[in-house]
Amino acid sequence: MSPPTLPTGVERRLFDGDERLATRGASVYGEPTDGEWRVWDARRSKLGAMLEHGMETGLSGGETVLYLGAAAGTTVSHVADFSGPTYAVEFAARPTRDLLTVAEDRQNLFALLKDARKPETYAHIVEPVDVIVQDVATRGQAHVARANRPFLRDDGRLLAAVKARSEDVTADPESVFEQFSSQLDGYEILETQRLEPFHDDHLAVVARPDR
Ligand code: SAM
Repeated sequence: MSPPTLPTGVERRLFDGDERLATRGASVYGEPTDGEWRVWDARRSKLGAMLEHGMETGLSGGETVLYLGAAAGTTVSHVADFSGPTYAVEFAARPTRDLLTVAEDRQNLFALLKDARKPETYAHIVEPVDVIVQDVATRGQAHVARANRPFLRDDGRLLAAVKARSEDVTADPESVFEQFSSQLDGYEILETQRLEPFHDDHLAVVARPDR
């Protein structure tokens, strides 16, 4: 079986003799760049790690994206490099300030200082999307995915990174992941993958709306 193709706008390119994932855009977090392409560091990005693991994300490039848990914009900046309108939700004020700076260089990136548990507070801004990327690293990660499900088109994809320790620091990660999967009402899970060696105790989930 051939490996899944990368979205248009994401390439494997040589940096210092190593093949690295890269997107084209203004540098954001001190990542290596050749002035046009910049390294997408999978150790700093769960979505990058999903691509490195060859997961079938369904991304082809140019999609409309809702990104939950954008922080200072490390990953969502890469997403905006190869996507259409990209709505980036983050509820902490400090990283959102940096996110706003990242958005200045990207006309398709819209930073929203909002709580992903309260989608009604941004429902008037966000259009129906092809992809939800979720990396909130907080308790109630399945709830966040369910609450934002109405934004997702019927043929869309949820790409979620679940952090076990955010749900329960003492629990066995596998039991946390099972619980997350069992609580993902409204979605059908297509693929799961642990993100080691890039990220410890994280499960990546690709899901689509239930039919
Ligand atoms: N996705 C980011 C990246 O790769 O560049 C890193 C995200 S960090 C692991 C998790 C972020 O989710 C934090 O910035 C945190 O403030 C944010 N977050 C947690 N709960 C949230 C919520 N309910 N609404 C919005 N953001 C939330």
